[in-house]
Amino acid sequence: MSGAADVTKADGLPAEIRKLTEDARMTVRRAGVPPADGKCVVYWMQRAQRALDNPALDTAIKIGNTLGLPVVAFFSAISNFPHANLRHYVFLNQGLADIEADMAERNVTFLVRRAPNHSLERFLDEVQAAMVIGDENPCREPERWRRVLAQRLKLPFWTVDADVVVPSKLFAKHQYMVHILRKRMEPLLPQYLAAQPIVMAQKSWPRPKGFEALNVTEDITKGWRDFDRSVKPVDSFHGGTRAAQKLLKEFVTTKLANYATMRNHPEVDGTSRLSPYLHFGHISPLTIALAVEDACKKGLATQQAKEGYLNELIQWRELAVNFVKYVPQYDSIESAPEWAQKTLREHAGDRRNPVYTLEQLEHAETHDELWNAAQRQMLHAGWMHNYLRMYWAKKILEWTPSPAKAWEFAVILNDKYFLDGRDPNGYAGVAWAIGGVHDRPWFEREIFGTIRYMSGNSTGKKFDSKRYIRQMEELAGA
Ligand SMILES: Cc1cc2nc3c(=O)[nH]c(=O)nc-3n(C[C@H](O)[C@H](O)[C@H](O)COP(=O)(O)OP(=O)(O)OC[C@H]3O[C@@H](n4cnc5c(N)ncnc54)[C@H](O)[C@@H]3O)c2cc1C
Repeated sequence: MSGAADVTKADGLPAEIRKLTEDARMTVRRAGVPPADGKCVVYWMQRAQRALDNPALDTAIKIGNTLGLPVVAFFSAISNFPHANLRHYVFLNQGLADIEADMAERNVTFLVRRAPNHSLERFLDEVQAAMVIGDENPCREPERWRRVLAQRLKLPFWTVDADVVVPSKLFAKHQYMVHILRKRMEPLLPQYLAAQPIVMAQKSWPRPKGFEALNVTEDITKGWRDFDRSVKPVDSFHGGTRAAQKLLKEFVTTKLANYATMRNHPEVDGTSRLSPYLHFGHISPLTIALAVEDACKKGLATQQAKEGYLNELIQWRELAVNFVKYVPQYDSIESAPEWAQKTLREHAGDRRNPVYTLEQLEHAETHDELWNAAQRQMLHAGWMHNYLRMYWAKKILEWTPSPAKAWEFAVILNDKYFLDGRDPNGYAGVAWAIGGVHDRPWFEREIFGTIRYMSGNSTGKKFDSKRYIRQMEELAGA
């Protein structure tokens, strides 16, 4: 470690590095001073799979530059990531080449290893790491891994809340409604909705000859026996930062202006379709938000269109992060507010007719053409339009023996087939539709009680549902 850094306080950390801990994005998981013989700073990349607008990578680079050390970004691919299957991994794999190229632009070496040779601790020993910077993921298992790692590591280990515009820590508890979060977020947005400087790593990492790492274009799942290959990849989305940037450009130039009306038309491609890229961290919500602001400044869209889109991207999306962060039972009926649990209990005995099994739902075998079409979009595109996601989940409540079962089925299908599944947005979406989370009581009716209802008739009349059904039949046929 270079002796150049200015160590001024009793904790032994250089002042520039200590100052970074004042940032609300930062969580010091394991405090301490980087060892003097450390040879690099490691960014352990998990959720924020990108090199652009990535505050976790920026932090690693700033620390590396202060310590006079190079930065190595490490991605460890495991075969048993909860509920992940071939569809998800192909998309992830497609993104690795862009990460490597963009990291190189910042003078950072990107290294990928895969199970069974994927141990982070072994990697840290091999590269003689001085410090580890990770990103954040509020979901149960990834958060548990970070806690376990903090106990096992001997090095300083910090994580950075890289995939939200406003650091999630700034809201100390669950925010029950989007308007409450919006009000609390408003004064913070000018600070966080701002372009970040691109910091270059000053030192390069001298890669030892024969250092083990995967070629990023190789199949990372090759040879995995315990891996779920039952869900096939889709042609509808190609993973990676470049593909995300292309979609973003297309969206701000041709779709943003009409977002308010076209976002409720599943038969028209009127939304950004960026959710899979946000889920894998191939693009940052900040990059998207700034592009939308810029488009508005250039007159490509009105202030109203911009606000409508940012309301989904920032307020609704970060409400979902807040929900998963603070409500431990986020993927089950226990997360529903008291009024919703009570009304669902009161209607638990209502007759359900028809009742479908998980398999019937999964294979789009219901009597409802529109619902089956939505399910086909899930199966064959790995994505579904928001308007139909609401309808889809509410019908599962109507057609299953109990709300708890409905919740369970919706989460299973959501996580299995959506490229953007296994995400706070999915858990919050199901909780909203089935459990009234972030919603209010509506009119009392059978099965639903006062949970908001959506009827097939009125939903199908709000857009050209016949066209949508035809499109999904074609998709399934193809
Ligand atoms: C039952 C149900 C399940 C859902 N499952 C998921 C899921 O697994 N993964 C997922 O990312 N989203 C999920 N959503 C939220 C939403 O439907 C999708 O984010 C959206 O349809 C993605 O399409 P888009 O990127 O074109 O969105 P756009 O309309 O272009 O919006 C831009 C971004 O804003 C965010 N956003 C939009 N709508 C919402 C919303 N209602 N809640 C939270 N964030 C939102 C997303 O990140 C989205 O990519 C679910 C919603 C419901 C009701």
